[in-house]
Amino acid sequence: MADGSDRARVIDGKAFAARLRERVTGAVHDLRAAGVTPGLAVILVGEDPASQVYVRSKHRQCLEAGMESFEHRLPADTSEADLLALIRRLNGDEAVHGILVQLPLPRHLDSDLVINSIDPRKDVDGFHISNVGLLGTGQKAMIPCTPLGCLLLLRDLHRDLSGMEAVVIGRSNIVGKPMAQLLLRENCTVTIAHSRTRDLPAVTRRADIVVAAVGRPEMVRGDWIRPGATVIDVGINRLPGEGKERLVGDVHYDSAAAVAGAITPVPGGVGPMTIACLLANTVVACARLHNLPEPEGLTA
Ligand code: NDP
Repeated sequence: MADGSDRARVIDGKAFAARLRERVTGAVHDLRAAGVTPGLAVILVGEDPASQVYVRSKHRQCLEAGMESFEHRLPADTSEADLLALIRRLNGDEAVHGILVQLPLPRHLDSDLVINSIDPRKDVDGFHISNVGLLGTGQKAMIPCTPLGCLLLLRDLHRDLSGMEAVVIGRSNIVGKPMAQLLLRENCTVTIAHSRTRDLPAVTRRADIVVAAVGRPEMVRGDWIRPGATVIDVGINRLPGEGKERLVGDVHYDSAAAVAGAITPVPGGVGPMTIACLLANTVVACARLHNLPEPEGLTA
C-alpha cells in the first residue's frame, strides 16, 4: 500500500540477498588481499533430504563469493565422541573461520552439547550459549542468520524501528527468541507470542510489525493484521501440490497482502536472506579472528 495501490509492497528478499552477497564478495576480496581467505566448515550428519539441499546451496554460494568451503558429511550413526573430535579439530584449524552443524541432528546426538563445543568466535549460526548471552545483554555477538536477515530487511524498509509495536509469533531458540532480542535492541516494544497465547489475532492486530515463525501453513490471516503493518513471514512449509510440492509461509499471503503495508513473499522473502547472512557472519568472524577491520554493512 506504500505505492498507493490496494496491495502491500512486496519485500524482495531475493534482490536484497543478492546485494548482501555482493558486499560479502567485496569484503572477501579485501580480506584475501590482506592474506586471509574466509572459510566455512559445514557438518552434516545423516541424510535428511532438506538438509542436503541447504548444505549444497551453502557450499555453492561460499565458492561464488570467493570463500573456502569445507564439507564434512558424516554417517547417521556417527558417535557423539567422533563429532565432538571433529569440532575440536575445526576449532583449531586456522583455515576455518565459521563452523556450522546442520540441524536437526539425529536423535542420539545432544544438539546443545554439540553446538556449545564450537568455538563461540566461529559459531556463525549464533546458537552457542555465549553468543545467546552476548545478544541478550546487548553485546557484540554472532547473530543467528534468519533473524539477522529479517532485521536487515526491516531496517531497509523503515530505517528507524524505535517505538514500533512488534509481535513475534514463535519462541524457538533459532528464530523467535533471537528475533525478539534484536527488535528489542532496536527499541521496539516487543511481544513474543506462542502456542499458549490467548486470542492471538487480537495480539497481532496491535502490531506495526508481525514476524511469523511458527511452522503452520498460512495460519496468520489478513484479518489478524493491522492495516499498513509490516509482515515478515519466516515460515517454510511444504504442501503436497498437483505434481510437485508447493511452498507456503506461515502467513496467508493473499489475504495479508490486501491489508499489510509491506510483506515478504514465500518463497523469495526471508529464505534467501538466511544463507546470505551466513556468508556475512563468516566474513565478520574471519575479520574478528584476525583482528582486521570489520567489513561494514554485513551485520546488525
Ligand atoms: P519451532 O517449531 O521450533 O517453533 C515454533 C514456534 O511456534 C513455537 O514457539 C510454538 O510455540 C509456536 N507455535 C506453534 N503453534 C502455534 C500456534 N498455533 N499459535 C501460536 N504459536 C504457535 O519452529 P522454528 O522456529 O524452527 O521455525 C518456524 C518456521 O520458520 C518454520 O516454518 C521453519 O520451517 C521456518 N524457518 C525458516 C527459516 C528460513 O531460512 N526462512 C530458518 C528457520 C526456520 P510453543 O513454544 O508454545 O510450542
